[in-house]
Amino acid sequence: MFIGHFGVAFAAKRVAPRTSLGTLVMAAQFVDLLWPMFLLLGVERVMISPGATAVTPLDFISYPFSHSLIADLGWACLFAGVYKVMNKGSGGAACVWFVVMSHWLLDAICHRPDLPLYPGSSTYIGFGLWNSRGWTILIEGAIFLVGARIYARATRPRNPFGSLAFRSFVALLILIYLINIFGPPPPSERAVAFEALGLWVFVFWAYFLDRHRVAGSPRLQQIELFPPPDEPQAP
Ligand SMILES: [Zn+2]
Repeated sequence: MFIGHFGVAFAAKRVAPRTSLGTLVMAAQFVDLLWPMFLLLGVERVMISPGATAVTPLDFISYPFSHSLIADLGWACLFAGVYKVMNKGSGGAACVWFVVMSHWLLDAICHRPDLPLYPGSSTYIGFGLWNSRGWTILIEGAIFLVGARIYARATRPRNPFGSLAFRSFVALLILIYLINIFGPPPPSERAVAFEALGLWVFVFWAYFLDRHRVAGSPRLQQIELFPPPDEPQAP
């Protein structure tokens, strides 16, 4: 899954309004952000095999450290633990943990059975949504758009950047998604790794756009503008 993970990050803002969207995007995509590094280090392997599934030409030969269930559990605990230490008292650590874990669950829905339970396991999970282009676009598109809408309603722009950066973020992700599905396969496995490293741009972009938005919908703001009357003062 690709943009569906962003949908989860967007929606999580409603649960953890004080957590930056940048952190939530990093959490939702954490193992995909690590994966290209493991590829370049040679500890995980991917192969370009056009037709592997209807959606992606990538054949994930081995990725136990980024994409096994136990590894994702470990990354989720590490991510949430570091988050808790760095953001004392602001809450959101449990939400961040769930967001990291959601990556594996969504990948399990999409991938062929290629997600191992743990490094060295011969049990592979994957429900194969990627065998259908139409269903993938429908389901993943819905997760993304619903998430983006939840974020748009849970926050409001502080200035024009807040609106512009959000809209362009959403539009560019949709464009990349469609190019990935309908475009030509990547030229090499190394190119796949470098393209995947580009995901980090969206993490920084999300920090930027979130800084230019403020948590709280216009409706909530309206309520705050008209607070209930104070207790009558004693004469
Ligand atoms: Zn993944």
